[in-house]
Amino acid sequence: MLASGAVLTGLGVGLSAISGEVFRVKPHQPLPVPAKHSGDKQSEIDKLKTAISNVSQELQQLAKKAGETSAEIFEALEMIVQDESLFDAAITEIETGWDAPTAFVNAVETFAELLSGDPTFEERLADIRDLAKRVAANIHGISLGLNLPEEGRYVIVGEDFSPADTAQFTKAVVGVITIQGGPTSHTAIICRSKSIPAVVSCAGAAELVDGVQVLVDPVGDRVVVEGKEADATQAISFVAKSAEPIIPVRANIGSLEDSIAAATTAAEGVGLFRTELLYLQSTAKPSKEKQIASYAEILKAAPEGPIVVRTIDAGSDKPVPFLDMPKEENPALGVRGFRLVGPHRDFIVDQLESLEEARKLSGREVWVMAPMIALTSEAIEFAELARKAGNFKVGIMVETPSIIYEIPNLKGVVDFISVGTNDLSQYLFASDRLHPSLGTLLNPWQPALIRALSVIAKECEAVSIYSGVCGESASDPAFAVVLAGMGFDSVSSSRSQVGAVRTALSSLDKSQAHDIYQAVLAAKTADEAKSIALAKLSLLAG
Ligand code: PEP
Ligand code: MG
Repeated sequence: MLASGAVLTGLGVGLSAISGEVFRVKPHQPLPVPAKHSGDKQSEIDKLKTAISNVSQELQQLAKKAGETSAEIFEALEMIVQDESLFDAAITEIETGWDAPTAFVNAVETFAELLSGDPTFEERLADIRDLAKRVAANIHGISLGLNLPEEGRYVIVGEDFSPADTAQFTKAVVGVITIQGGPTSHTAIICRSKSIPAVVSCAGAAELVDGVQVLVDPVGDRVVVEGKEADATQAISFVAKSAEPIIPVRANIGSLEDSIAAATTAAEGVGLFRTELLYLQSTAKPSKEKQIASYAEILKAAPEGPIVVRTIDAGSDKPVPFLDMPKEENPALGVRGFRLVGPHRDFIVDQLESLEEARKLSGREVWVMAPMIALTSEAIEFAELARKAGNFKVGIMVETPSIIYEIPNLKGVVDFISVGTNDLSQYLFASDRLHPSLGTLLNPWQPALIRALSVIAKECEAVSIYSGVCGESASDPAFAVVLAGMGFDSVSSSRSQVGAVRTALSSLDKSQAHDIYQAVLAAKTADEAKSIALAKLSLLAG
């Protein structure tokens, strides 16, 4: 049992502290991604029959427990799960090679699409999709629920949380602690975007038990047992001294919802639109018509300013089912990002042509960039495709160490670069960005990352290529100041951080930011680099 006042260190996410009661989440497996079966169709059909019958029983139980109104919903869902035409549609999917869980999800999706547009059914679509998940989970023998409390103020503690887990966060979740995970983990990204204070990579949290009161103190990179909010480490309260930040602050988006939300911030356009996030569940390739419609909607909704769209960055941590990618021993080092131009050139061209149509429909300024570029020849190939497809500024992401040394050769090839510090850290430090226990190597304050970034900014300046940073590191107000001090032309942050990053960048001038960056270069550890920057910044703030 941890004593009152015990301090557990980790990596903080967010700028405000919160105290609440610990709720330990039991670990469970995530739902596997869509997959093909090994050839035994009958066994897939049998698995599906059993799962349907199990889920049907689960729904009957739920209907019994639920109140009158909800009971009707469960009864309706039970009828749907037993529907013969749905079962036949799933068998057709199995015939085309999908395994039983994927086949049922696909069949439900087709069914859902038929019903969309009917206002009485629109509301039920989420329930119907949830039904498909229940069947898939049953086949895989996975329990889906985190069983989080709905009321109260809880700090949830777990190993790490997947996208399916974070989707279940209730309003009672006021803070998050993960034992593993790092600053680029899904948990960190979601907590930052939802403004939930979190401390990740906090090994000591393994000893926290249900019911204990804790202070989640992200600015202090710590959790304090029985700590009070009044004891929290204060974030530097930057005071804007000018109306405009020293470099533009854009927003990162991945959906129409994000685009709409980003437009409510002071972001100057979008610095990273992750297009693959639209397709993480798509087992069928989206047509050009569908792409044009969704891109146009997102472009129209986006905050004023240029919109930097990244072509599909599938593979590794972002599997896209319809691209049917081969299983690889080491996917982070495999055929991913722009390397897909080999097997899936047609989709990248479709995307660029659809973006051009969407650009015209929306009347917006669109920049396009390719992910995971390692060679100048790849940048040339992408620039040719992009310029042939439309009227864009053309760029690449800098995420591999090799391309840093190619920047002089990019003169005249690309108009801009954008640094993805999440992947750059992964490849620079040879540390899997989702690895549960390598958070320290992925800390953006690591001196080697800071030096690599400063080389990128200088090389770009030397050949007049516009440079930005769109990795998670650009969501940290103090780090954004260091980036501006290095000479980057813009940053793009998680939308919840746009305001804080903008204020920090409006609180000083470029030469002060440059001095802070110079001072940080003396650091030998990540902690030292951060402390130097914070000490300098607090002298300027207020
Ligand atoms: C990055 O790698 O820093 C980046 C912005 O891209 P993503 O996180 O989508 O890989
Ligand atoms: Mg990346």
